[in-house]
Amino acid sequence: MTAVIESTALQRIEAVMASRDVAAIVIGPGADLVALTGYRAHASERPTVLVARADGEHALVVPALEAPTARAGAVGVPVQAYAEGADPYAVIGTALGDLAGGASVGIGDQLWAATLLGLQQQVGSGGSAPHWFAASRITREVRMVKDAAGLDGLRRAGQAIDQVHRWMGELLRPGLTEAVVGQRIAAAMADTGHARAAFTIVGSGPNGASPHHETSDRVIEVGDAVVVDIGGPVDGWFSDCTRNYVVGHAPDGYDEAFAVLHAAQRAAVAHVRPGVTAASVDAAAREVIDAAGYGDAFIHRTGHGIGLEVHEEPYIIDGNDLVLQPGMTFSVEPGIYLEGRFGMRIEDIVAVTDDGHERLNTTDTSLVTLPA
Ligand code: ZN
Ligand code: ZN
Ligand code: ZN
Repeated sequence: MTAVIESTALQRIEAVMASRDVAAIVIGPGADLVALTGYRAHASERPTVLVARADGEHALVVPALEAPTARAGAVGVPVQAYAEGADPYAVIGTALGDLAGGASVGIGDQLWAATLLGLQQQVGSGGSAPHWFAASRITREVRMVKDAAGLDGLRRAGQAIDQVHRWMGELLRPGLTEAVVGQRIAAAMADTGHARAAFTIVGSGPNGASPHHETSDRVIEVGDAVVVDIGGPVDGWFSDCTRNYVVGHAPDGYDEAFAVLHAAQRAAVAHVRPGVTAASVDAAAREVIDAAGYGDAFIHRTGHGIGLEVHEEPYIIDGNDLVLQPGMTFSVEPGIYLEGRFGMRIEDIVAVTDDGHERLNTTDTSLVTLPA
């Protein structure tokens, strides 16, 4: 990403703060800090915080020994270093400036509790205390809608994970354990540009019915259905894609359920466009699965936003009346889970475009039969 784009995020957050009567937000290491400044800080007992103020007087407060990396990594914000042994909270308090009693100050969701407690001691309590709130209410406004660089990053991550799925015929073989297949997938992810495998779900046979099963020592056999849900960061942007495989042949009852799931996922993707609600995308998938009698087996929301984190807003779930806008990116991943038998989930990442959607995963969503 370019410097221009990163400083734009900080300017956008200023505007959101001003419109909501928020004085400042205090952000620790994590995805919010990367989104606003580009700086990939590590969290430690020496606090690193971005103080972003509605009046544009921002500061990145860092320990002196990390000042060089902060200056190199952070764009559009002055770095204020505190010496080893000095009180970081005095520096953070100065960066916050004179707050009126009851001023609204947002705290990053991933700021360490110890840092918040130190900050609260510094800036007073009782009548003069600020009104603290979760800064995600503010940062979500910037992070939910991706700019061109973010969309490009997610597109490249999608292409990388698609390539790993194309190799599944070599990676996933009967006689191997799920754990070994997971290791082979992780190596393939590294080969395609992933910095790491954030998760490698290989759910074979009955294990597929547990949506967040990772891997186990179960040996994959001919006749197994296998759910493969894999993802990780490529240049900081996350991939996340689920496809379904059977070894040799599908188990009894599988094909009927898969046809329903396939239709449901296609209906939900087709529904994605600006102006519809997140809840309506969930409903588009759920109606198909309910109508076929598998409603009780679809036990999770239809999707989650994705970007610098694998799960972020917007959540594609019943009750979320958020209206979709161009630039929003999220998964569409309905599933059917039959305990003791098998499970299945089809997952694509999609981006909302000006007049519809773009699938960022482009491999076929059909069931793949691998040789026995
Ligand atoms: Zn999940
Ligand atoms: Zn997934
Ligand atoms: Zn997902």
